[in-house]
Amino acid sequence: MKFCHHCASPIVLRIPDGDDKVRHCCNHCDSVFYENPKNVVGTLPFYEDKILLCKRAIQPRLGKWTLPAGFMENGETSLEGAVRETAEEAGATVRIHDDCLYTLFNLPSINQVYLFFRAELATPEFEAGAESLEVGLFSESQIPWSEIAFPVVRTTIEYFLEDRPRGSFPVRMFDVQHGADRSISTHLISQSLPSARD
Ligand SMILES: [Zn+2]
Repeated sequence: MKFCHHCASPIVLRIPDGDDKVRHCCNHCDSVFYENPKNVVGTLPFYEDKILLCKRAIQPRLGKWTLPAGFMENGETSLEGAVRETAEEAGATVRIHDDCLYTLFNLPSINQVYLFFRAELATPEFEAGAESLEVGLFSESQIPWSEIAFPVVRTTIEYFLEDRPRGSFPVRMFDVQHGADRSISTHLISQSLPSARD
């Protein structure tokens, strides 16, 4: 940013009093503009033994398959955002269960946090939204692994397929590191204990 959103004076980069990081500051009205990580929220929609995937109509990773997800909007909860993205990108209506939170990814190198929820399709009806070229239901053997758009999507699907036979879906948190050689590594940091349910 070049000019203050409040008074239109030029912005300077400096460390504000009492802070330890360089911020966008306005020396005229003393505003400080903080930049913080963004939340990306999405679902892993499933119907019977199949998983819903969307083929991306936008960059990055145009033409690759992904789970419906996008940036949270102000004024909505993470789950509301995930359900909204599912409707927008896949034209799908989902049923949410009370153990729906599934994976959380910290991506400090790109300042994002991803959250995925498990979500059952109410009916096997869907259609590609503006950001999707195509939407489909895939059984385990049909998943286009070499065409998956993002490691966070791949990891979420892999754990879902691993958890499904046990019928137990712990919440897991991962740290994702982007290497200088463009490699991406995903590390499991935390996993909830199995529920005490019978
Ligand atoms: Zn200002």
